[in-house]
Amino acid sequence: MARCDTCGNHYDKTFTVTRGEERGTFDSFECAAQAMAPDCAHCGCRILGHGVEAEGSIFCCAHCARAVGEHELVDRA
Ligand SMILES: [Zn+2]
Ligand SMILES: [Zn+2]
Repeated sequence: MARCDTCGNHYDKTFTVTRGEERGTFDSFECAAQAMAPDCAHCGCRILGHGVEAEGSIFCCAHCARAVGEHELVDRA
């Protein structure tokens, strides 16, 4: 039995997520996203898709990147 790093739940079907040097054990994707997904630097929402990287920050969409002064990025609809 492993323990979820986010909620502390003991569960027999936990999984591990590794990103670079970061590594965590979780009981659900909800908990994995809570712990591992980056937050948009503008609106603070959790980025579960690709996101947009600009000037060393990560944003959920081009709109948020533009809101802090990044004018080069455009969402492809
Ligand atoms: Zn959990
Ligand atoms: Zn955003």
